[in-house]
Amino acid sequence: MNSLSVAGELGADPKAEADSSAMLRLIGHVIRTSCQRDRTEINTVLIEALADLFQPLAIAIFRVFTSRKQTVVFACAESSAQGRYVRNAYRPDTAYCRPIHTDAVLQRCQRQLNTVVEVLADGRQRLVFPITQAKHLIYLIDITVAENLAPDQRTLMMRLVEYFGHHIALLDYGETDTLTGLPNRKTFDKHLFEVLDHQVIDEPPCERKRRRKGGNDSQHWLAVCDIDHFKRVNDEHGHLIGDEVLIMFAHLMRDNFRYQDQLFRFGGEEFVVVLQPTGETVVRQAFERLRLAVERHVFTGIGHITVSIGYSRLYDNDTAPDVIERADEALYYIKQHGRNAVACYEDLVNSGQLRVKVPRSGDIELF
Ligand code: GH3
Ligand code: MG
Ligand code: MG
Repeated sequence: MNSLSVAGELGADPKAEADSSAMLRLIGHVIRTSCQRDRTEINTVLIEALADLFQPLAIAIFRVFTSRKQTVVFACAESSAQGRYVRNAYRPDTAYCRPIHTDAVLQRCQRQLNTVVEVLADGRQRLVFPITQAKHLIYLIDITVAENLAPDQRTLMMRLVEYFGHHIALLDYGETDTLTGLPNRKTFDKHLFEVLDHQVIDEPPCERKRRRKGGNDSQHWLAVCDIDHFKRVNDEHGHLIGDEVLIMFAHLMRDNFRYQDQLFRFGGEEFVVVLQPTGETVVRQAFERLRLAVERHVFTGIGHITVSIGYSRLYDNDTAPDVIERADEALYYIKQHGRNAVACYEDLVNSGQLRVKVPRSGDIELF
């Protein structure tokens, strides 16, 4: 800042002064972005930077989820005349998700994996920038401006979005298990409370109300999935084949669950699934479907393996160790009773096969 006022006093060129002021603002935004270690917070910072530097009419940051069946975009941050909303980027809220084919411009950007510029009838311009990782589309940044941007402005915008993409890649490096590409245990520990709905940074009150609705029949569930006799796979076929099995297992998990369910590699041959609010029958079916998919799959070089799955409901006062411990107890029960099965902690307690655990963190009524 000092250098700017000094330049002014010396009667420097006003254009040069404006340029250096813009430069300082840009650097400020870059520094703020580089400090972020969280996908939700980094979205806030990007929106602020874009709003400050380009005064756009609207900005939307979409996370992109691609499965075998469809591609869905989640508007995890939005800014327009209607307000600014930043949603938990780790937990796609279905109310703000839609198939990409519902928006032709987003879909075009997905196909081309290149910036798309759409001139709207009233002269406004919509620019959509893709962010990819290993050739997969992971984000779309959708910006509407009042009029044609000068080429250098457009380049600057593109570079800023590119920088955002690089920072997301760095975040992913810390949050992802390198073998399977699933979020790692550190990410689970950090975000379980967000999964439990406690952390919506900014959203309209009506939305908050909507999200709090839902009785016992629609709660989050957590499962621990553990591959049976995995040590044998390593012993008989070698560690590399063991690694291939883990990669394929992660694929089967991705294929089996919905984009809004959260999958983690917890460590070794243990994986954790956190299901979005779902009724009891559906939850059992989902885990049973995974168990069956694993049982049926022919793993290259080794043939068949099986998995055991223990799961439990998530309660409001749960800490990560509480819920993991309950799911683990159900899992342990299966390991003691033949493996290759799915068991619900609460069902085992209700049927007298397990003794109820006294919850550690509060006054929870279990069932
Ligand atoms: P159980 O049915 O009781 O779960 O038996 P298990 O053999 O699956 O369980 P155990 O805990 O005895 O063995 C887990 C094995 O997983 C031991 C370890 O070498 C292997 N493992 C852990 N991480 C990795 C990995 O990243 N790659 C490979 N190839 N093996 C791993
Ligand atoms: Mg294990
Ligand atoms: Mg095992």
